[in-house]
Amino acid sequence: MTALSVKTDSLDLIGNTPLVLLKGASEAAGCEIWGKCEFANPGASVKDRAALWIIRDAEERGELKPGGTVVEGTAGNTGIGLALVANAKGYKTIIVMPDNQSAEKMATLRALGAELVLVPPTKFADPNHFVHTSRRLAEETEGAIWANQFDNVANRRAHIESTAPEIWEQLGHKVSGFTCAAGTGGTIAGVALGLKAFDENIRIALTDPHGAALYNYYAHGELKAEGSSVAEGIGQGRITANLEGAPIDTQFRISDEEGLKWVAQLLREEGLALGLSSGINVAGAVALGRELGPDARVATILCDTGFRYLSTLYNAEWLRAKGLPVFDWLG
Ligand code: PMP
Repeated sequence: MTALSVKTDSLDLIGNTPLVLLKGASEAAGCEIWGKCEFANPGASVKDRAALWIIRDAEERGELKPGGTVVEGTAGNTGIGLALVANAKGYKTIIVMPDNQSAEKMATLRALGAELVLVPPTKFADPNHFVHTSRRLAEETEGAIWANQFDNVANRRAHIESTAPEIWEQLGHKVSGFTCAAGTGGTIAGVALGLKAFDENIRIALTDPHGAALYNYYAHGELKAEGSSVAEGIGQGRITANLEGAPIDTQFRISDEEGLKWVAQLLREEGLALGLSSGINVAGAVALGRELGPDARVATILCDTGFRYLSTLYNAEWLRAKGLPVFDWLG
């Protein structure tokens, strides 16, 4: 039996998440599919890692000083991670978020003590886009840094230095493939770079939702978005600094219906309450596993907790209004 762990610093609770064998997905793929339990981080998402690395990097570069403020534009999870890390280190946080993200994320950010600024969801080219608004606010605020998760490569370093080596160790140095979706691209690029440094034959697949441009970019070299998705935190339209040079070998495009089918199955059959990006990732992992064959071992990311989406993914009225299938048990 492994010893129960003891920490002397709350920030050491970030990372070192368990890896769980996903039984239903493994059966569907005909090989082993493993999920990295990022919902087990203190902020209940994969973004705690990026938050910690970004804040430490700003401190090391001398930009973030005692009593300073961290400003960021985020779909929510990065803001939650930043607010927790900032609290632990005595910084303030200002979070700019599009107002179409889940109410749970907004309530959580307020509860953690972050100052929340809501903006309408607009295209990246719009100067009022949440990313540009957060950059301006950081420039206008005394003692503030802009976390800039999309183009600050401290984000992907978190995954090169922590997520990838953890997966490599947890799977006993036998990893056939890895896949996940991209928001900033920090997770896919960082894990891809980290795993390929251990074994360059590990096959890396990008799993893209509809409405994102990366599937077409990696398939045909053209940044072109088609369709749409209700998944929060994923779906990128450009090559961020974090995505630059990411060793992506192949790509899948997964519908919300397919992702939701996995969210439902993982909850009902394995007791895992997850968000839609996790469902989309598992669908991608099954597709990659089928390609790699029966001896393969594929890992993916279970990005965040489903409790963050009670008013959306787990709400029959919301699902119906979006034209999405309603989980049987919700009526
Ligand atoms: N899933 C969820 C729920 C997220 O919030 C994010 C972060 N935006 C991702 C996946 C994607 O992670 P990354 O930014 O590292 O690409």
